[in-house]
Amino acid sequence: MTSQTVNQERTLLESKAPQALGDLLEPGISVVEFRDALARAVTAVTVVTTDGPGGLAGVTCSAVASVCDTPPTVLVCMNRRSYVNGVIKQNDVLCVNWLSSQQSAVSDMFAGVGKLSMPERFGSGRWHTLATGAPYSADATIALDCRVVEAMEVGTHSVFLARVLATKTHEEEHRDPLVYCRRSYATTRPTAH
Ligand SMILES: Cc1cc2nc3c(=O)[nH]c(=O)nc-3n(C[C@H](O)[C@H](O)[C@H](O)COP(=O)(O)OP(=O)(O)OC[C@H]3O[C@@H](n4cnc5c(N)ncnc54)[C@H](O)[C@@H]3O)c2cc1C
Repeated sequence: MTSQTVNQERTLLESKAPQALGDLLEPGISVVEFRDALARAVTAVTVVTTDGPGGLAGVTCSAVASVCDTPPTVLVCMNRRSYVNGVIKQNDVLCVNWLSSQQSAVSDMFAGVGKLSMPERFGSGRWHTLATGAPYSADATIALDCRVVEAMEVGTHSVFLARVLATKTHEEEHRDPLVYCRRSYATTRPTAH
């Protein structure tokens, strides 16, 4: 399955709640127009993991952002139909792993390509733990290990606010990031000036 197929699956997944999404959009702005505009934005690709009483799980997410540094807080937007969403709500912890440019296969796998079970997804690559027990990837550029402090339901998605308890950065300071733009993987390069 390709990234395009993953996108088709995402559309299918999220189109199951058109009424909820429609309620949030101003008249005249279609879901397609919204998606096509945002497809041109560059986002970093992460895998959000969790472990605890609800089990081990992880999913690819690009809707992740820093909220504030006092206290250190990030947000993660996750589809309510994703299996991992309910597991995070049971475990109350998550770890955000910003992938490196060599990890596009990891992104695909955690986006559901190959339909692997959760233990199979974590069976390849170097996964360890920090403070909470949620796995971090030793090959990622950055990992932020967090406790969930709040979950808000917005349309089709949950917005998790998470307090950062521990961090891990890759030993290579200039490791290239994996980014997603125009529905394809890419990486960054410095501008001329
Ligand atoms: C670049 C990119 C960015 C993305 N960004 C986001 C984002 O920001 N937010 C977002 O919500 N989605 C995002 N997605 C989509 C997301 O990664 C997944 O593609 C989507 O959630 C579907 O996941 P899934 O195929 O694992 O299906 P799901 O139905 O969520 O999970 C299926 C898997 O869960 C496991 N499972 C299911 N039930 C059980 C059970 N009872 N016990 C044990 N294991 C079980 C199995 O391993 C199964 O294969 C992004 C995808 C890509 C490619």
